[in-house]
Amino acid sequence: MPSPAGQHRGRPKVVFGQVLHFLKDPGEVPDPAAWEVFEDGALAITADGKVAYAGPARALPQHLAGAERVDHRGRLVVPGFVDTHIHAAQVDVIASYGKQLLEWLETYVFPAEAKFDRAAHARALAGFFLDRLLAAGTTTATVFPTIHPTSVDAFFEQSRQRGLRMLCGKVLMDREPYAPAYLRDRSVDQAEQQTRELIERWHGKDRLGYSITPRFAPTSTERMLAMTGRLLQEDRSLWLQTHAAENKDEVALVKKLFGGRSYIDVYERYGLLTKRSLFAHCIHIDTTDRKRLAAAGSSVAFCPTSNLFLGSGLFDLRAARGSKVTVGLGTDVGAGTSYSLLATLNEAYKVTALRGRSLSPYRGFYLATLGGAQALDLDHVIGNFRVGKEADFTVLDFTATPTLARRTDVAKDFTERLFALMILGDERAVAATYAQGRLVHDRDNDPALLG
Ligand SMILES: [Zn+2]
Repeated sequence: MPSPAGQHRGRPKVVFGQVLHFLKDPGEVPDPAAWEVFEDGALAITADGKVAYAGPARALPQHLAGAERVDHRGRLVVPGFVDTHIHAAQVDVIASYGKQLLEWLETYVFPAEAKFDRAAHARALAGFFLDRLLAAGTTTATVFPTIHPTSVDAFFEQSRQRGLRMLCGKVLMDREPYAPAYLRDRSVDQAEQQTRELIERWHGKDRLGYSITPRFAPTSTERMLAMTGRLLQEDRSLWLQTHAAENKDEVALVKKLFGGRSYIDVYERYGLLTKRSLFAHCIHIDTTDRKRLAAAGSSVAFCPTSNLFLGSGLFDLRAARGSKVTVGLGTDVGAGTSYSLLATLNEAYKVTALRGRSLSPYRGFYLATLGGAQALDLDHVIGNFRVGKEADFTVLDFTATPTLARRTDVAKDFTERLFALMILGDERAVAATYAQGRLVHDRDNDPALLG
């Protein structure tokens, strides 16, 4: 088991391979100034897990020549993927049949989440969940647990043991009948007290950050949303994660319960739009909403596998960026059908195509890395290989499957190879994952994949 992040004791290391990272959003027509790719590249990591160098192997600074050498030549080294929306407590409801959002929550999700009041269950599933993220090449995520403080403790403890940069926070839900009696905060005061205790215990500890987590408007009373807004205004270093405008019935319900101009307007009324706020989905919103989100510096998680699986709708990436809303990618497991952001990009491409546009592989890999870090306001520490950033990265294998290998072989240039990886890749293409320069997943030696 790796030592906690704060006690990092690695050796300086140089990883050789093809290195790709992004400096900014490449845009819809990709601007080559937005990325750097080094065909015969090297990524050097300091003893305390920071990027010391990213560039051509031949230009590796002399003082790094004696570092431990890791050979991934022929593979692609990219920054660790950032998942901007996922549920740790929905591990066991992935692939549950036949419902749209509100019925799906009632039928499958709430009963599964109710089990997280048991610490042993919460611990076991947090471990399984984090191992799946790392196997998918994801090193940072903003994560919904359940209403139980045990679920937050279990998640943060296991993230800390693995040395990961993670965001999480107790789910808040107190509104009858949309939050069922068996999965409901007893009172706003108790929810606030539990939240404050968890913030004290986890926020800013090692690489962990606390995200206030009202599930969504329909399960929240006005008092709960007001409390959430108050905590955010009190401490601007806290994050906020919730859902918004995912499904048309949900939007109509919010209108009925809260009135107001729009769903986003309800959140804005209670002070929930901040620079560190992340709203999942935002499919059924308008230009005014997008402008309000952009003005606050708030971000949106685009979750294509989930949106298609639940029949929620097609996210409008172009409109979001047109209004200057920062967008990250989310798997949204368990409504999402894969932990892999590569598989998620495959579906993102198709959603974009249904809206008459094309998602380039550069834009795609940007969204999965630096774009996600920007959406979480973490791009000062992760997201690319600028010197001094935390060295979280993943190593991708162009020969992971016969189909990908053959398509790669006949590709005429790097752009084609990258696109094939984006469309055909998934966990199988993740050869290794590193957090702060330390190996945290090795595909070919993962006990979970053996036998
Ligand atoms: Zn969700």
